[in-house]
Amino acid sequence: MSDCIVIGGGVIGLLTARSLHLAGLDVLLVERGNLGGESSWAGGGIISPLYPWRYSDAVNRLAEQSKTLYPELAAELQSESGVDCELLNSGMLYTDTDELEVARAWGQKWNQNLELITDRQMLERIEPALHPDIERAIWMPDIRQIRNPKLVQALRSSLQTRGLRCIEHTEVKEILSSGGKVLGVRTAEQDLLADKVIVASGAWSARVMQGLGKIDVEPVKGQMLMFHGEPDQIRTMVLSQGHYIIPRRDGRVLAGSTLEKTGFEKQITDEATKTLSADAAALVPLLAELPIERQWAGLRPGTVNGIPYICAHSEIEGLYVHAGHYRNGIVLGPASAQLLTEIVLGEKTFCDTSDYSMSAAH
Ligand SMILES: Cc1cc2nc3c(=O)[nH]c(=O)nc-3n(C[C@H](O)[C@H](O)[C@H](O)COP(=O)(O)OP(=O)(O)OC[C@H]3O[C@@H](n4cnc5c(N)ncnc54)[C@H](O)[C@@H]3O)c2cc1C
Repeated sequence: MSDCIVIGGGVIGLLTARSLHLAGLDVLLVERGNLGGESSWAGGGIISPLYPWRYSDAVNRLAEQSKTLYPELAAELQSESGVDCELLNSGMLYTDTDELEVARAWGQKWNQNLELITDRQMLERIEPALHPDIERAIWMPDIRQIRNPKLVQALRSSLQTRGLRCIEHTEVKEILSSGGKVLGVRTAEQDLLADKVIVASGAWSARVMQGLGKIDVEPVKGQMLMFHGEPDQIRTMVLSQGHYIIPRRDGRVLAGSTLEKTGFEKQITDEATKTLSADAAALVPLLAELPIERQWAGLRPGTVNGIPYICAHSEIEGLYVHAGHYRNGIVLGPASAQLLTEIVLGEKTFCDTSDYSMSAAH
Protein backbone atom coordinates (compact mmCIF):
# COMPACT_ATOMS: atom_id res chain seq x y z
CA MET A 1 0.00 0.00 0.00
CA SER A 2 1.37 3.43 -0.98
CA ASP A 3 0.14 6.92 -0.17
CA CYS A 4 0.11 7.71 -3.84
CA ILE A 5 0.52 6.06 -7.26
CA VAL A 6 1.55 8.15 -10.28
CA ILE A 7 0.58 6.59 -13.64
CA GLY A 8 3.13 7.62 -16.26
CA GLY A 9 6.81 8.47 -16.07
CA GLY A 10 7.16 11.36 -18.51
CA VAL A 11 8.39 14.74 -17.31
CA ILE A 12 4.99 15.44 -15.73
CA GLY A 13 4.83 12.14 -13.82
CA LEU A 14 8.51 12.32 -12.80
CA LEU A 15 8.24 15.91 -11.52
CA THR A 16 4.97 15.11 -9.73
CA ALA A 17 6.40 12.00 -8.08
CA ARG A 18 9.48 13.90 -6.94
CA SER A 19 7.47 16.82 -5.62
CA LEU A 20 5.04 14.59 -3.67
CA HIS A 21 7.98 12.57 -2.31
CA LEU A 22 9.67 15.78 -1.15
CA ALA A 23 6.40 16.68 0.59
CA GLY A 24 6.68 13.46 2.60
CA LEU A 25 4.35 11.07 0.75
CA ASP A 26 5.21 7.46 -0.01
CA VAL A 27 5.00 7.49 -3.82
CA LEU A 28 5.01 4.66 -6.37
CA LEU A 29 5.44 5.52 -10.05
CA VAL A 30 4.20 3.04 -12.67
CA GLU A 31 5.41 3.42 -16.26
CA ARG A 32 4.35 1.34 -19.25
CA GLY A 33 7.68 1.67 -21.11
CA ASN A 34 10.95 3.35 -20.12
CA LEU A 35 10.84 6.38 -17.83
CA GLY A 36 10.85 9.53 -19.96
CA GLY A 37 10.79 7.53 -23.21
CA GLU A 38 7.82 9.23 -24.90
CA SER A 39 6.99 12.88 -25.57
CA SER A 40 9.27 14.16 -22.82
CA TRP A 41 12.29 12.68 -24.56
CA ALA A 42 11.10 13.71 -28.04
CA GLY A 43 10.49 17.40 -27.31
CA GLY A 44 12.67 20.41 -27.95
CA GLY A 45 13.09 21.77 -24.44
CA ILE A 46 12.35 25.44 -25.16
CA ILE A 47 11.51 27.02 -21.79
CA SER A 48 8.74 29.20 -23.19
CA PRO A 49 5.56 28.67 -25.17
CA LEU A 50 6.53 29.29 -28.83
CA TYR A 51 4.42 32.43 -29.25
CA PRO A 52 3.48 33.12 -25.62
CA TRP A 53 1.21 36.05 -26.55
CA ARG A 54 -1.13 33.60 -28.28
CA TYR A 55 -1.76 31.75 -25.03
CA SER A 56 -4.16 32.39 -22.18
CA ASP A 57 -3.17 33.64 -18.74
CA ALA A 58 -3.72 30.08 -17.51
CA VAL A 59 -0.74 28.92 -19.59
CA ASN A 60 1.40 32.04 -19.12
CA ARG A 61 1.15 32.05 -15.35
CA LEU A 62 2.44 28.48 -15.16
CA ALA A 63 5.19 29.28 -17.67
CA GLU A 64 6.31 32.29 -15.64
CA GLN A 65 6.35 30.31 -12.39
CA SER A 66 8.34 27.51 -14.04
CA LYS A 67 10.90 29.95 -15.41
CA THR A 68 11.66 31.06 -11.85
CA LEU A 69 11.81 27.44 -10.61
CA TYR A 70 14.08 26.01 -13.33
CA PRO A 71 17.53 27.30 -12.26
CA GLU A 72 17.17 25.85 -8.75
CA LEU A 73 15.61 22.63 -10.06
CA ALA A 74 18.44 22.11 -12.57
CA ALA A 75 21.06 22.74 -9.85
CA GLU A 76 19.35 20.34 -7.40
CA LEU A 77 19.06 17.66 -10.07
CA GLN A 78 22.72 18.06 -10.97
CA SER A 79 23.81 17.59 -7.37
CA GLU A 80 21.45 14.61 -6.87
CA SER A 81 22.18 12.88 -10.18
CA GLY A 82 25.45 14.27 -11.50
CA VAL A 83 23.61 15.04 -14.77
CA ASP A 84 23.91 18.52 -16.24
CA CYS A 85 20.55 19.23 -17.93
CA GLU A 86 22.14 22.03 -20.00
CA LEU A 87 19.82 24.82 -18.97
CA LEU A 88 21.08 27.47 -21.41
CA ASN A 89 20.24 31.12 -21.90
CA SER A 90 20.27 30.99 -25.69
CA GLY A 91 17.53 33.53 -26.34
CA MET A 92 15.07 33.36 -29.24
CA LEU A 93 14.84 35.35 -32.47
CA TYR A 94 11.34 35.52 -33.98
CA THR A 95 11.76 36.36 -37.65
CA ASP A 96 8.02 36.70 -38.23
CA THR A 97 7.15 40.06 -36.79
CA ASP A 98 3.53 40.65 -37.84
CA GLU A 99 2.29 40.20 -34.27
CA LEU A 100 4.70 42.79 -32.87
CA GLU A 101 2.08 44.95 -31.11
CA VAL A 102 0.41 41.99 -29.40
CA ALA A 103 3.83 40.66 -28.47
CA ARG A 104 4.83 44.01 -26.97
CA ALA A 105 1.62 44.19 -24.94
CA TRP A 106 2.26 40.65 -23.69
CA GLY A 107 5.86 41.57 -22.82
CA GLN A 108 4.70 44.52 -20.76
CA LYS A 109 2.01 42.55 -18.97
CA TRP A 110 4.38 39.73 -18.02
CA ASN A 111 7.44 41.93 -17.60
CA GLN A 112 9.43 40.21 -20.34
CA ASN A 113 12.42 41.52 -22.22
CA LEU A 114 11.38 41.83 -25.87
CA GLU A 115 12.62 44.13 -28.62
CA LEU A 116 12.26 44.58 -32.36
CA ILE A 117 15.62 44.58 -34.13
CA THR A 118 15.78 46.17 -37.58
CA ASP A 119 19.53 46.71 -37.79
CA ARG A 120 21.16 43.88 -39.77
CA GLN A 121 24.52 44.32 -38.01
CA MET A 122 22.84 43.96 -34.66
CA LEU A 123 21.09 40.80 -35.85
CA GLU A 124 24.44 39.42 -36.97
CA ARG A 125 25.93 40.14 -33.57
CA ILE A 126 23.12 38.12 -31.98
CA GLU A 127 23.29 35.31 -34.53
CA PRO A 128 26.14 35.44 -37.04
CA ALA A 129 24.76 32.39 -38.89
CA LEU A 130 21.34 34.00 -39.57
CA HIS A 131 20.14 33.98 -43.20
CA PRO A 132 21.41 37.18 -44.93
CA ASP A 133 17.91 38.05 -46.21
CA ILE A 134 16.49 38.37 -42.69
CA GLU A 135 16.46 42.04 -41.77
CA ARG A 136 14.03 42.26 -38.84
CA ALA A 137 13.28 40.06 -35.91
CA ILE A 138 11.79 40.15 -32.45
CA TRP A 139 14.53 39.32 -29.95
CA MET A 140 13.75 37.73 -26.61
CA PRO A 141 17.16 37.34 -24.94
CA ASP A 142 15.89 35.65 -21.77
CA ILE A 143 14.30 32.56 -23.30
CA ARG A 144 16.15 29.49 -22.11
CA GLN A 145 16.31 25.93 -23.33
CA ILE A 146 16.92 22.70 -21.45
CA ARG A 147 18.18 19.44 -22.95
CA ASN A 148 15.05 17.44 -22.21
CA PRO A 149 16.52 13.91 -22.60
CA LYS A 150 19.04 14.92 -19.94
CA LEU A 151 16.26 16.40 -17.80
CA VAL A 152 14.38 13.08 -17.76
CA GLN A 153 17.64 11.21 -17.14
CA ALA A 154 18.42 13.50 -14.19
CA LEU A 155 14.89 13.14 -12.80
CA ARG A 156 15.08 9.38 -13.08
CA SER A 157 18.39 9.28 -11.27
CA SER A 158 17.15 11.74 -8.62
CA LEU A 159 14.16 9.49 -7.86
CA GLN A 160 16.45 6.46 -7.60
CA THR A 161 18.84 8.30 -5.27
CA ARG A 162 15.92 9.32 -3.09
CA GLY A 163 14.63 5.75 -2.89
CA LEU A 164 11.35 6.49 -4.67
CA ARG A 165 9.92 3.30 -6.16
CA CYS A 166 9.43 3.22 -9.93
CA ILE A 167 8.10 0.21 -11.81
CA GLU A 168 8.90 0.30 -15.53
CA HIS A 169 7.53 -1.84 -18.38
CA THR A 170 4.26 -2.19 -16.52
CA GLU A 171 1.03 -0.89 -17.98
CA VAL A 172 -1.83 0.25 -15.78
CA LYS A 173 -4.87 -1.54 -17.20
CA GLU A 174 -7.49 -0.06 -14.89
CA ILE A 175 -7.93 2.45 -12.10
CA LEU A 176 -9.62 0.74 -9.17
CA SER A 177 -12.34 2.57 -7.25
CA SER A 178 -15.34 1.76 -5.10
CA GLY A 179 -18.10 3.87 -3.58
CA GLY A 180 -16.71 7.06 -5.14
CA LYS A 181 -13.21 6.53 -3.71
CA VAL A 182 -10.02 5.46 -5.45
CA LEU A 183 -8.42 2.21 -4.29
CA GLY A 184 -5.36 1.85 -6.54
CA VAL A 185 -4.51 0.49 -9.98
CA ARG A 186 -4.58 -2.88 -11.75
CA THR A 187 -1.69 -4.08 -13.89
CA ALA A 188 -1.47 -7.40 -15.77
CA GLU A 189 0.41 -8.90 -12.81
CA GLN A 190 -1.19 -7.42 -9.70
CA ASP A 191 -3.37 -4.86 -7.99
CA LEU A 192 -1.38 -2.00 -6.46
CA LEU A 193 -3.22 -0.16 -3.69
CA ALA A 194 -2.98 3.51 -2.73
CA ASP A 195 -5.03 6.30 -1.15
CA LYS A 196 -4.37 8.57 -4.08
CA VAL A 197 -3.84 7.94 -7.79
CA ILE A 198 -2.54 10.55 -10.24
CA VAL A 199 -3.10 10.18 -13.98
CA ALA A 200 0.03 11.65 -15.62
CA SER A 201 -0.08 9.48 -18.71
CA GLY A 202 0.49 12.15 -21.36
CA ALA A 203 -1.29 11.56 -24.68
CA TRP A 204 -2.75 8.31 -23.28
CA SER A 205 -4.42 9.96 -20.29
CA ALA A 206 -7.97 9.86 -21.71
CA ARG A 207 -7.51 6.13 -22.36
CA VAL A 208 -6.24 5.53 -18.83
CA MET A 209 -9.29 7.43 -17.50
CA GLN A 210 -11.74 5.49 -19.67
CA GLY A 211 -15.04 4.91 -17.87
CA LEU A 212 -14.15 7.43 -15.16
CA GLY A 213 -15.17 10.68 -16.85
CA LYS A 214 -14.15 12.47 -20.00
CA ILE A 215 -11.03 14.52 -20.44
CA ASP A 216 -10.16 16.13 -23.77
CA VAL A 217 -6.58 15.01 -24.34
CA GLU A 218 -5.58 13.59 -27.72
CA PRO A 219 -2.24 12.71 -29.33
CA VAL A 220 -0.69 15.32 -31.64
CA LYS A 221 2.37 13.97 -33.41
CA GLY A 222 5.47 16.14 -33.71
CA GLN A 223 8.46 15.24 -35.86
CA MET A 224 11.93 16.61 -35.24
CA LEU A 225 15.27 16.54 -37.06
CA MET A 226 18.70 16.65 -35.48
CA PHE A 227 21.66 18.04 -37.43
CA HIS A 228 25.22 17.21 -36.50
CA GLY A 229 27.20 20.42 -36.25
CA GLU A 230 30.13 21.78 -34.25
CA PRO A 231 29.87 23.72 -30.96
CA ASP A 232 29.26 27.50 -31.32
CA GLN A 233 28.39 27.38 -35.03
CA ILE A 234 24.90 28.62 -34.08
CA ARG A 235 24.15 30.50 -30.85
CA THR A 236 20.48 31.31 -30.60
CA MET A 237 17.12 29.65 -31.09
CA VAL A 238 15.34 31.00 -34.18
CA LEU A 239 11.64 30.69 -34.96
CA SER A 240 9.56 31.46 -38.02
CA GLN A 241 6.02 30.38 -38.97
CA GLY A 242 5.92 27.79 -36.19
CA HIS A 243 9.18 26.09 -37.20
CA TYR A 244 12.28 26.56 -35.09
CA ILE A 245 15.90 25.60 -34.61
CA ILE A 246 17.49 24.86 -31.23
CA PRO A 247 21.31 24.78 -31.09
CA ARG A 248 22.60 22.44 -28.36
CA ARG A 249 25.85 23.01 -26.51
CA ASP A 250 27.66 20.14 -28.27
CA GLY A 251 26.90 21.53 -31.75
CA ARG A 252 23.87 19.41 -32.52
CA VAL A 253 20.93 21.43 -33.79
CA LEU A 254 17.28 20.42 -33.52
CA ALA A 255 14.79 21.54 -36.15
CA GLY A 256 11.10 21.15 -35.40
CA SER A 257 8.40 20.45 -35.52
CA THR A 258 5.32 19.16 -37.32
CA LEU A 259 1.78 19.17 -35.90
CA GLU A 260 -0.09 16.05 -37.05
CA LYS A 261 -3.32 14.54 -35.80
CA THR A 262 -2.77 10.94 -36.89
CA GLY A 263 -3.72 9.04 -33.76
CA PHE A 264 -1.17 7.09 -31.75
CA GLU A 265 1.23 6.26 -34.62
CA LYS A 266 4.79 7.68 -34.54
CA GLN A 267 6.06 7.12 -38.10
CA ILE A 268 8.60 9.57 -39.45
CA THR A 269 7.98 10.78 -43.01
CA ASP A 270 10.06 12.00 -45.96
CA GLU A 271 7.71 14.96 -46.27
CA ALA A 272 8.65 16.12 -42.76
CA THR A 273 12.36 15.66 -43.54
CA LYS A 274 11.98 17.94 -46.57
CA THR A 275 9.83 20.59 -44.90
CA LEU A 276 11.76 20.81 -41.65
CA SER A 277 15.17 20.88 -43.32
CA ALA A 278 14.09 23.50 -45.90
CA ASP A 279 12.56 25.69 -43.19
CA ALA A 280 15.63 25.33 -40.99
CA ALA A 281 17.97 26.29 -43.86
CA ALA A 282 15.78 29.33 -44.58
CA LEU A 283 16.64 30.54 -41.07
CA VAL A 284 20.30 29.47 -41.00
CA PRO A 285 21.78 28.47 -44.41
CA LEU A 286 24.62 26.54 -42.77
CA LEU A 287 22.08 23.84 -41.85
CA ALA A 288 21.79 22.86 -45.53
CA GLU A 289 25.43 21.71 -45.30
CA LEU A 290 25.16 19.72 -42.07
CA PRO A 291 24.28 16.03 -42.02
CA ILE A 292 20.96 14.99 -40.50
CA GLU A 293 21.96 12.63 -37.70
CA ARG A 294 18.50 11.54 -36.64
CA GLN A 295 14.77 12.10 -37.11
CA TRP A 296 12.06 11.12 -34.65
CA ALA A 297 8.44 11.67 -33.68
CA GLY A 298 6.69 12.08 -30.34
CA LEU A 299 3.07 12.33 -29.25
CA ARG A 300 2.15 15.53 -27.48
CA PRO A 301 -0.75 15.33 -25.03
CA GLY A 302 -2.91 17.77 -26.98
CA THR A 303 -5.71 19.97 -25.68
CA VAL A 304 -7.56 22.58 -27.74
CA ASN A 305 -6.28 25.63 -25.84
CA GLY A 306 -3.08 24.11 -24.51
CA ILE A 307 -4.36 24.40 -20.93
CA PRO A 308 -3.48 21.30 -18.90
CA TYR A 309 -5.68 19.46 -16.42
CA ILE A 310 -4.21 19.93 -12.94
CA CYS A 311 -7.00 18.90 -10.65
CA ALA A 312 -8.78 16.52 -8.35
CA HIS A 313 -11.30 14.32 -10.14
CA SER A 314 -14.75 15.88 -9.86
CA GLU A 315 -16.40 12.69 -8.54
CA ILE A 316 -13.83 10.14 -7.37
CA GLU A 317 -12.11 10.98 -4.12
CA GLY A 318 -8.35 10.46 -4.22
CA LEU A 319 -8.11 10.51 -8.03
CA TYR A 320 -6.23 13.38 -9.70
CA VAL A 321 -5.59 14.36 -13.30
CA HIS A 322 -2.25 15.89 -14.34
CA ALA A 323 -2.21 15.82 -18.13
CA GLY A 324 -2.71 17.72 -21.37
CA HIS A 325 0.34 19.99 -21.38
CA TYR A 326 0.36 19.82 -25.18
CA ARG A 327 3.31 21.77 -26.68
CA ASN A 328 4.53 23.08 -23.33
CA GLY A 329 5.05 20.20 -20.93
CA ILE A 330 8.74 20.95 -20.41
CA VAL A 331 8.19 24.63 -19.70
CA LEU A 332 5.04 24.18 -17.61
CA GLY A 333 6.19 21.03 -15.78
CA PRO A 334 7.82 22.40 -12.61
CA ALA A 335 5.00 24.88 -11.85
CA SER A 336 2.36 22.35 -12.77
CA ALA A 337 3.87 19.75 -10.41
CA GLN A 338 4.00 22.37 -7.65
CA LEU A 339 0.32 23.19 -8.17
CA LEU A 340 -0.78 19.55 -8.28
CA THR A 341 1.18 18.87 -5.08
CA GLU A 342 -0.51 21.79 -3.33
CA ILE A 343 -3.91 20.47 -4.48
CA VAL A 344 -3.15 16.91 -3.29
CA LEU A 345 -1.95 18.16 0.09
CA GLY A 346 -4.91 20.53 0.44
CA GLU A 347 -2.53 23.48 0.84
CA LYS A 348 -2.98 27.07 -0.31
CA THR A 349 -2.21 27.06 -4.03
CA PHE A 350 0.19 29.57 -5.61
CA CYS A 351 -2.49 30.54 -8.15
CA ASP A 352 -6.19 30.13 -8.85
CA THR A 353 -6.87 26.53 -9.92
CA SER A 354 -10.24 26.88 -11.66
CA ASP A 355 -8.77 27.07 -15.19
CA TYR A 356 -7.22 23.62 -14.77
CA SER A 357 -10.27 21.76 -13.43
CA MET A 358 -12.09 18.96 -15.26
CA SER A 359 -15.06 21.23 -16.01
CA ALA A 360 -13.02 24.15 -17.42
CA ALA A 361 -12.41 24.58 -21.17
CA HIS A 362 -9.06 23.10 -22.16
C1 LIG B 1 8.43 17.33 -31.30
C2 LIG B 1 8.05 17.89 -29.96
C3 LIG B 1 8.61 19.08 -29.55
C4 LIG B 1 8.30 19.61 -28.29
N1 LIG B 1 8.94 20.74 -27.85
C5 LIG B 1 8.67 21.23 -26.63
C6 LIG B 1 9.37 22.36 -26.14
O1 LIG B 1 10.28 22.90 -26.81
N2 LIG B 1 9.04 22.85 -24.90
C7 LIG B 1 8.07 22.27 -24.14
O2 LIG B 1 7.79 22.78 -23.06
N3 LIG B 1 7.41 21.18 -24.58
C8 LIG B 1 7.69 20.65 -25.79
N4 LIG B 1 7.02 19.55 -26.25
C9 LIG B 1 5.89 19.03 -25.45
C10 LIG B 1 6.36 18.21 -24.30
O3 LIG B 1 7.33 17.29 -24.74
C11 LIG B 1 5.14 17.49 -23.68
O4 LIG B 1 4.16 18.42 -23.34
C12 LIG B 1 5.56 16.74 -22.42
O5 LIG B 1 6.63 15.89 -22.67
C13 LIG B 1 4.38 15.95 -21.87
O6 LIG B 1 4.85 15.20 -20.77
P1 LIG B 1 3.99 14.04 -20.18
O7 LIG B 1 4.75 13.48 -19.03
O8 LIG B 1 2.60 14.51 -19.95
O9 LIG B 1 3.89 12.97 -21.38
P2 LIG B 1 4.90 11.81 -21.83
O10 LIG B 1 6.31 12.24 -21.81
O11 LIG B 1 4.39 11.26 -23.11
O12 LIG B 1 4.73 10.74 -20.68
C14 LIG B 1 3.55 10.00 -20.47
C15 LIG B 1 4.00 8.63 -19.99
O13 LIG B 1 2.85 7.88 -19.58
C16 LIG B 1 3.10 6.52 -19.91
N5 LIG B 1 1.84 5.78 -19.94
C17 LIG B 1 0.81 5.95 -20.80
N6 LIG B 1 -0.18 5.07 -20.53
C18 LIG B 1 0.22 4.36 -19.46
C19 LIG B 1 -0.36 3.31 -18.70
N7 LIG B 1 -1.56 2.82 -19.01
N8 LIG B 1 0.34 2.77 -17.67
C20 LIG B 1 1.58 3.25 -17.35
N9 LIG B 1 2.18 4.26 -18.03
C21 LIG B 1 1.51 4.81 -19.07
C22 LIG B 1 3.77 6.61 -21.29
O14 LIG B 1 4.48 5.42 -21.58
C23 LIG B 1 4.67 7.83 -21.10
O15 LIG B 1 5.99 7.50 -20.71
C24 LIG B 1 7.35 18.96 -27.47
C25 LIG B 1 6.80 17.75 -27.87
C26 LIG B 1 7.16 17.20 -29.11
C27 LIG B 1 6.59 15.87 -29.51
